[in-house]
This record gives sequence, structure tokens and C-alpha cells, in this order.
Amino acid sequence: MSEILLTIDDSPSPDTDELTSFLQSQGIPAILFCRGDRLRDNPDPVVRAIERGFVAANHAFHHQRASTLTVDEVKAEILETEKLLDQAYQRAGRARPALYFRFPHMDRGTGGWVVDYSAVSAHEKTLRTLFADGLNVKLDPPTAEQIDKKSRLQEFLQAAGFTALPAAGITHDWYRQTEIISAVDAMFTFSTSDWMLTKRHLGKWPYQSIDDLKQKIDNDPWLAVSGSTNIVLAHDQPEVLPVVKALVGHMLQKGFSFKPA
Ligand SMILES: [Zn+2]
Repeated sequence: MSEILLTIDDSPSPDTDELTSFLQSQGIPAILFCRGDRLRDNPDPVVRAIERGFVAANHAFHHQRASTLTVDEVKAEILETEKLLDQAYQRAGRARPALYFRFPHMDRGTGGWVVDYSAVSAHEKTLRTLFADGLNVKLDPPTAEQIDKKSRLQEFLQAAGFTALPAAGITHDWYRQTEIISAVDAMFTFSTSDWMLTKRHLGKWPYQSIDDLKQKIDNDPWLAVSGSTNIVLAHDQPEVLPVVKALVGHMLQKGFSFKPA
């Protein structure tokens, strides 16, 4: 059974305390990718999460798409959020274990074209399915300017001391043989699609119930690879907590183990 590195985007929310209590009670470590705007307005749950042993990481300030911002704007978004994370760690009396960053909407500067899908044709379908949550959505290839932006942002992240999530345990060839393995920002190998059950999205996408999302877990060929680590993406947003609890419970029941970063 695969080992899971749980990553949670968009913290903090009104439910962060309950989420981290729940995960702690189950012995599940996680990385919380925090929005700067929410961290500024509501730092206490993140300080408590750090005290509870969770890793707090950077998810930019305003949760905007990097493809719509200039390189300098994205850098400012990241650096402002870093200051708030430093303060949260200071308040918790802990040192930053590592600097991790995940782009909002997984827009790495190239819009929905998260990685160059056509670079390795054997993996094109897997990558499109992964980054589009299994949805049949139309994706525009990036412009030359966007491609340049993406590489400049990678250089910036590297120079600023960010590191990729640990990938040593990930055996999937589409992860190891594509540009994903050299990304400095935080990637993932499975999306829970938990956000699809929020009122705003419900009914517009193929997954419409917790049972549907449990089936997505059951049917994923990569989660089923025994001996590989998987990086799982979930969210800390209003309405999503019961979904995350149910899906994490389902993964525990299936025998997955959760490991720290
Ligand atoms: Zn997000």
C-alpha cells in the first residue's frame, strides 16, 4: 500500500483548528500551504498548527494565477507570505523545517498547462488527467512569454531557498521522467477534488458526492502502486472539512499510511 504525504492548500480557514485536531488525533502529519492574505488576518490557527507539529508553507498572498501577474508581482506575493510564515514560526517557537511553495491554482506561470503535456507523449494523458482533476477541459498551450515566466519563477524559487517536496519515495515514471522531478515548487500525484463538493461547484463537475470521491481514490491507478509514495492534495476551505475527514478516513480504512515531509 502506498505511503501518503498529505498536502492541504488555502489555509487558514475557520476550520483549520478542527482540521489539525482531527489529523493529529489520527496521527496524520500534513503540510498546510497558507495564503498570505488569510494568514495576515487570522494567524492563530496556523501558529497552533505549527505547535501541533504541522508544516506551514507558502501558497502566495492573494491566491492569484501566476500567468496573470508579472514575475515581480509573483515574487512580491511569495516574499510577503514568507514574512508572515516566519512570524508564525517565531510565535510557535519553532524553526522553519524547509521552505515549500505551491502555486495557487497550480498556475506555474503557464496557465492550465501545468507542465509541458506533450513533452513525453507516453505520459501526456496521465498528466492532463492529473492536473485537470480528471475533467475534460480545454487547455491552451502557453505562450513563449509564459514559458519564460515559468522558468524565471523556478530560478527565483531556487535562489530564495525553496525546495521541492521530498520525492525519493515516488516511483511513478511520469513523475520521475518528466519536468515534474526538477520542479522547485510543490507538485502532487493525486488530487482529492474535494473542492467539487462546495456549493459553488456542486453539480458542475462529475464528482458530486463523498462516495464519488471515495471511488476516485479506489480507482486511481497510481495510488494503488504499492511501495510508492504519493503526494495527495486536499483543501482547507469552508464546507470542505467534512469531505476531507471522510476521504482521509477512507484512505486510513484502505490501509494507506501517512508520512511526514
Ligand atoms: Zn489554492
